[in-house]
Amino acid sequence: MAATATERKLLIDGDWVETGEWIEVRSPYSGDVVGRVAKGGADEARRAVDAAARALESPLPAHKRAEVLVKVAGLIGRRHEEVARTISDEAGKPIKTARVEASRAMSTYTFAAVEARKLAGEMIPMESAQAGEGKLGFTLRKPIGVVGAISPFNFPCNLVAHKLAPALAAGCPVVLKPASQTPLSALLLAELELEAGLPDGWLNVIVGPASEIGDVLVEDARVRLITFTGSSGIGWGIRERAPRKRVNLELGNSTPVIVAADADLETAATKLAANAFAFAGQSCISVQRIYVERPAYDAFIQAFVPKVEALKVGDPSDDETDVGPVIDEGAHARILEWIEEATSSGARLLAGGVAGGLILPTALAEVADDQKLSCEEVFGPVVIVNPVDSVDEAIARANGTRFGLQAGIFTASIDTALRAADGLEFGGVTVNEAPTFRSDQMPYGGVKDSGNTREGPAYAVREMTEDRLVVIQR
Ligand code: NAP
Repeated sequence: MAATATERKLLIDGDWVETGEWIEVRSPYSGDVVGRVAKGGADEARRAVDAAARALESPLPAHKRAEVLVKVAGLIGRRHEEVARTISDEAGKPIKTARVEASRAMSTYTFAAVEARKLAGEMIPMESAQAGEGKLGFTLRKPIGVVGAISPFNFPCNLVAHKLAPALAAGCPVVLKPASQTPLSALLLAELELEAGLPDGWLNVIVGPASEIGDVLVEDARVRLITFTGSSGIGWGIRERAPRKRVNLELGNSTPVIVAADADLETAATKLAANAFAFAGQSCISVQRIYVERPAYDAFIQAFVPKVEALKVGDPSDDETDVGPVIDEGAHARILEWIEEATSSGARLLAGGVAGGLILPTALAEVADDQKLSCEEVFGPVVIVNPVDSVDEAIARANGTRFGLQAGIFTASIDTALRAADGLEFGGVTVNEAPTFRSDQMPYGGVKDSGNTREGPAYAVREMTEDRLVVIQR
């Protein structure tokens, strides 16, 4: 391990715990070890659930939860560059993109603090029914209980924040299992939560074999809600195995965008080139499929391809880099295989290749609808650009996968925009903005195979709390 590499332990009941075994965290760019983390398993996960269940017995008042959340936002701000470097080192994310993620995590904690302070039930108009005459009714919003959180590699800080911060706002202790490839950012956030005054047991972090730790979260009845962000197959598998729990799923997408013939093509090309390749396409809402109305097709390609080729590919720690590596060799090989399948069945390569061991931003034209690049989630620096005869055809093709997270349209017509917003079967639709756009207070989540919930502190807090009705006879 390099002298500068970070060493982190598990967090159980306020203690940093060693297990004698370690997981090495390697840079996806250089292969160097950037950290090592104590490796936990089922035993540590059970101890973590015990600690969280004990914490729940001593509820924290809302103002204290809000104070901790505000302090965490401040601490991320104070250690912003360290947080960004940690994200960049372990995920291979370009440092300028990692800095944005660190800032967004501050925003997530800040919005969660607001939710903690305003969490309240509602009055029920009891006298609106004859049976309710003389009665006063209202609801309390109670924390659902212990939350099990499972997070992916691609936003190792802010997607962890989207679980930890609302859970604390809601009054729920957490057992977190971060992605094995990127656990360092999560453990740094845990350190900041302790520094902000979080009492013992309210956050426990276990890194280790996914199915072993996942099974404890699924099987222990005290874990009342599992919040999972990751791939569809794993997410829906957890849901099936935990029918009595609330299982909130934020899953993948194969993100489509429509460019209507009346769109501002320069703006569309600029935004789509940036948002198809940021973090090498490894965002769940990375632009993957562009459908352009035929009259604008050639002009769009002419505007788009030079912008794709202008992206700087290389070392993620370099301030100038736009596109770095994908997460590992398996992903690298799979993505190249999907590109090869498409080109050998007639797709036209507009830009791309491999240089210095990295996949260059790749654009392909006229990719058939049955190709994996058209119907599955590529999760790499690849975009397809296909012509369509009408916006209605584009909407139908955009809807033609099992996914439904976010989609977008570029058009000058409000009628066309509203028709697309109505017809696109997705959790969110952006107009004249790439569907990669997310601001942390938005309700964010998918339909179909892309998920069953909405994140964003206000929405996640709603999921993590339950109504308790109180009826009083006057
Ligand atoms: P992944 O392979 O599904 O892993 C996600 C998490 O699940 C990791 O912590 C992983 O642990 C864990 N896991 C794996 N098998 C498990 C099991 N049997 N039981 C319990 N947990 C298990 O996903 P990923 O490759 O990290 O992330 C990429 C995927 O996430 C893409 O599909 C992307 O679209 C999706 N995503 C969705 C959103 C959204 O908000 N909708 C946001 C970001 C990413 P290990 O790391 O130890 O395997």
